Amino acid sequence: MNNSLPAAAQMGAETYPSSPGTQSVTDYDNGVSAIDADYLRPGLAAIHLIRENGRAALVDTGTSASVAGVMNALREKNLAPADVAYVFLTHIHLDHAGGAGEFMHQFPNARLVVHPRGARHMVDPARLIASAMTVYGEAEFRRIYGAIRPVDPSRIIEAPDGFRLDFNGRPLLFLDTPGHARHHYCILDERYRSFFTGDTFGISYREFDVDRMEFVFPTTTPVQFDPAAAHASLDRLMSYHPSYAFLTHFGRIGHLPRHAAEMHDLIDAHVAAALKLRDCGPGRLAALTEELGELLLHHVLIHGCKLPDHEIRNLLELDVRLNAQGLENWLNHAGETR
Ligand SMILES: [Zn+2]
Repeated sequence: MNNSLPAAAQMGAETYPSSPGTQSVTDYDNGVSAIDADYLRPGLAAIHLIRENGRAALVDTGTSASVAGVMNALREKNLAPADVAYVFLTHIHLDHAGGAGEFMHQFPNARLVVHPRGARHMVDPARLIASAMTVYGEAEFRRIYGAIRPVDPSRIIEAPDGFRLDFNGRPLLFLDTPGHARHHYCILDERYRSFFTGDTFGISYREFDVDRMEFVFPTTTPVQFDPAAAHASLDRLMSYHPSYAFLTHFGRIGHLPRHAAEMHDLIDAHVAAALKLRDCGPGRLAALTEELGELLLHHVLIHGCKLPDHEIRNLLELDVRLNAQGLENWLNHAGETR
């Protein structure tokens, strides 16, 4: 917390459109902003901008198309593309890393910092592209993700567990946080005891906020969901007693002890739903999707959200589908050494 800031600036989060259209930027304190990646819908995926003494770092990239909103945000803050020193990828799922090659092309002085398990896929994205195409089909994949450029390996820094980086005087600590994916790290912004958590601290859409209290839920996306690791990674983050977490989906949340407890419960509830339906036969994925939809709707309503049920379902629909697919995959492979 920077005590030289007025109280309103410390507490508040100012949102404004960064250009005509749907792009928008949310400014927090300590030089952190969330730039909407304009991925699928506004408010779904954020690219976090960290500013420190005239230099910029970006956490996650959205897709190749997201770079336009980042350029606008940089310009508004009197930063040039050459001022971007780092692009951090919390993990290499394409809603986080699909734009990495394009970003590195547009930001000539940037280094790409990625988990050791993810680095080679940034140099040669063929496998990432192929697996995403099997999920989306080629036409849909091209529409959502566009072209995916490879990254020059000489510009990549691998960040193993415990890696430290001095971002223009701002100390950052990288922690290996499996559970959502095995190529996932979280970044501790040590001066402000805040984490950039990618998907490790789950998802929290601002539409579900009730009196500034957030609703947070886990993401069990295919193909590396590991519940024991997800619990352990959450505990590890909380052992640093962080004040805030910046989630790619979407933006800053507080109340972390409360949300960590809710995340533990909801991870268990996801696993319980999967185990309950384990022997459902060929209709299992559909049953699991239905079950998770009801589970999350129920929890959003308990949280106090006053949106109509169909709007809540719409906002959750993509994640319910991905979570069901991830649990289906987990049921098929649990116990295997992968
Ligand atoms: Zn992910």
